[in-house]
Amino acid sequence: MPHRNHRPVRLGLTGGIGSGKSTVGHFWQAQGAALIDADQIARDVTGPQGAAMPAIAAAFGSDFVDPATGALDRTRMRALAFTRPEARAQLEGIVHPLVTLHSNLMAQQAADAGRTLIVFDIPLLAESGRWAGRLDAVVVVDCAAETQVARVMRRSGLSRETVEGIIASQASRTARRAVADAIIANDADCTLDQLHEQARQTAALFGL
Ligand code: ATP
Repeated sequence: MPHRNHRPVRLGLTGGIGSGKSTVGHFWQAQGAALIDADQIARDVTGPQGAAMPAIAAAFGSDFVDPATGALDRTRMRALAFTRPEARAQLEGIVHPLVTLHSNLMAQQAADAGRTLIVFDIPLLAESGRWAGRLDAVVVVDCAAETQVARVMRRSGLSRETVEGIIASQASRTARRAVADAIIANDADCTLDQLHEQARQTAALFGL
């Protein structure tokens, strides 16, 4: 195990849908940071043979497990959460501790490998109190809602109404900015080069 004098900086990276946080996270990863993607872990633990699947089958029944793949039947679960909001909390009660566990393990591996910066990409960081205290600082990628709508419509083909609905279901821009130690402004007039330059300057504040 490499010798380390300092523990790595743990940086939370968040932003609304289409804000550009994955673009920033991947840039930092290319610069040498370890990138831990909370949504990807949540998808993995609810995927085929995922660590959450036995508890999900026990809590909701085998109808919620896709028989072909062994993964969570997301369509059925979305429908249930729509009619019974407490089902979402129950699912989160199973999935979130596993996301915490796996992200801690990944962070420990990154620290053992000598990484100086560990970035946690957490789309719903501002919505959840459970990350506070586990991070040294939070960086928010910020832009106007209209920019988010345009980017997501272009990328996914989703309708304006759907994207606006997702934005409305997420933390407000104000609430997200309130948890920020640093803000990267990624509005419609920001080029990718300018975004990368802001990301470079922000990461330098945290030792990358
Ligand atoms: P999500 O939460 O939906 O995963 P995100 O916040 O991770 O979104 P990205 O995936 O990084 O956002 O960016 C959304 C889209 O907008 C991508 O196609 C990305 O390439 C593009 N994009 C983001 N910022 C810029 C920019 N400054 N210039 C050009 N394209 C950009």
